Amino acid sequence: MVTLDKLSSEELMQLEDRYGAHNYHPLPVVLSKGKGVYVWDVEGKKYFDFLSAYSAVNQGHCHPKIVKALTDQAQILTLTSRAFYNDTLGVYEKFVAEYFGYDKVLPMNTGAEAVETAIKIARKWGYEKKGVAENQAQIIVCEQNFHGRTTTIISFSSDLDANANFGPFTPGFIRIPYNDLEALAEAAKQPNVIGFLVEPVQGEAGVYVPNDGYLSGAKEICEEYQILFIADEVQTGIARTGKLLAVDHENVKPDILILGKAISGGVYPVSAVFANDEIMMVIKPGQHGSTFGGNPLAAKVAVAALEVVQDEKLAENAEYLGNLFREKMNGIIGKTDLVVKVRGKGLLNAIIVNDTPDSKTAWNLCVELKNNGLLAKPTHGNIIRFAPPLVMTEEQLLECVAIIEKTILAFKK
Ligand SMILES: *Cc1c(COP(=O)(O)O)cnc(C)c1O
Repeated sequence: MVTLDKLSSEELMQLEDRYGAHNYHPLPVVLSKGKGVYVWDVEGKKYFDFLSAYSAVNQGHCHPKIVKALTDQAQILTLTSRAFYNDTLGVYEKFVAEYFGYDKVLPMNTGAEAVETAIKIARKWGYEKKGVAENQAQIIVCEQNFHGRTTTIISFSSDLDANANFGPFTPGFIRIPYNDLEALAEAAKQPNVIGFLVEPVQGEAGVYVPNDGYLSGAKEICEEYQILFIADEVQTGIARTGKLLAVDHENVKPDILILGKAISGGVYPVSAVFANDEIMMVIKPGQHGSTFGGNPLAAKVAVAALEVVQDEKLAENAEYLGNLFREKMNGIIGKTDLVVKVRGKGLLNAIIVNDTPDSKTAWNLCVELKNNGLLAKPTHGNIIRFAPPLVMTEEQLLECVAIIEKTILAFKK
């Protein structure tokens, strides 16, 4: 018999390589434990996590309150399906709808599923409320968007890795440049447009922060043309950018709000779509669903995870530490020509490495950061995203800044 415990990092990487599909290219580190802002590899080396599972672990790894909610509920009731009522879902729905200020929530599991759900709700609203002719609805999306990996979602991606050879594609989307209100106003005039789907900060694309006034301007255009403003806050939501939602920076209230990732603190897959009754009630029994969506584990975990965000003032912490982080990065940029820029909002930041997107420089820099005890990953070649858990302290952040500075200044291409 083969025993699978006590394998080395090298052996574990070989297992993934041999038996797993090659749909990711991980940094060569094998993690086996996490606590707060830290993770440990199989050999016991400790790292600062500067990815937070793509902003799912905003509350820090294995937050005791969230883990307790999971383990307590796991011993009582895990899944009933929506064929029957259960004693956790309604309580969760009231809590989360009031938390984000909407009449209703539609619970799903992953971010991509929630985006799909929002697209379906928006289309149905377009036909039944706006009076668009059957099968003609159009949704405006942005260049370099990332909304997930389903066939429909990749149909409107501009990333060739995401969509090449996965066609035929779902029609009904108009793609315009991001951060361009003129392009939006132009596209909004086209017939049958029913929605504008946008990330308040484009995370996957490389942390592109739009100009001040972009989101509020976009909302105005949407109102003028009776178009639903659909915010994908799967990555930017739940305190990451220094407010509960990134749209809060411009006091915009999306018609449809999409959340995922940190709504569970990374403990369990939970996603959610929010809207008021005039929109949400277009969905009738039997028209949309999910076996696991809104299950008792998810309900309990999400309530605990959202309470942690409030109890520990994570938005305020992200705002404060984010400003400090960018100030410190700008200090480093003054001492090197390896990094040309830092940008971001709250604790969703990125540095731009001074090399071409197809160079290995950012990757090699991340390997050096790993060797020095900090985990981050390049996105789109020469961009490195820095997004630590929001439970980080100022002292820890300064320790991380010192690691980043030391690594960058010692780096040889
Ligand atoms: C991660 C992400 C998604 C997809 O979420 P999954 O849970 O991976 O399906 C959708 N939109 C944005 C903005 C994301 O960052």
